[in-house]
Amino acid sequence: MVGYKFYCLKLNLFSGQEITVGKKGREYFPPGFYFYVGRAQKGIRSRVARHLSSHKKKRWHIDYLSSRAFPVSLRLYPENMGSECQIAEILAAEGGEVIMPGFGSSDCNCPSHLYYFPGSHPLPGKE
Ligand SMILES: [Zn+2]
Repeated sequence: MVGYKFYCLKLNLFSGQEITVGKKGREYFPPGFYFYVGRAQKGIRSRVARHLSSHKKKRWHIDYLSSRAFPVSLRLYPENMGSECQIAEILAAEGGEVIMPGFGSSDCNCPSHLYYFPGSHPLPGKE
C-alpha cells in the first residue's frame, strides 16, 4: 500500500474578508482560491476530516481560513514526493500569490504553505 504523507487542500473563499489568524494577526483575504499544503505522516485521514469540519478548536493557521472558506478538492501525495515544501514551490512557480507570509510555514524556509489564485487553478500533480 502506498503511504500518503502530504496533501494539498483547495479552498474557495466566496467573499473577501479580514481574517485573524491566531498570533499572526489580521489580514485581508481576497475572494478566490486558496491552496494549502501540509503533511501528516500518521492519521492523514483524520487530518483531512479536520480540515473539512467547520467546528473545531483553532490550532493551526489553516484552521482560521478553513472555517471561513469552502473546500473544493484535495489531493494526497505519496511519501516519495519528498516534502510538502516541494508542492508549495510548484504553486509559487505556477503564479500563486502569498497573501500572508509564513502561513503554515513556521517550521521551514518557505515563504508560505498557502497560495492564492484569483481564478480556479488545478491542484499540483498529474491527474
Ligand atoms: Zn515549507
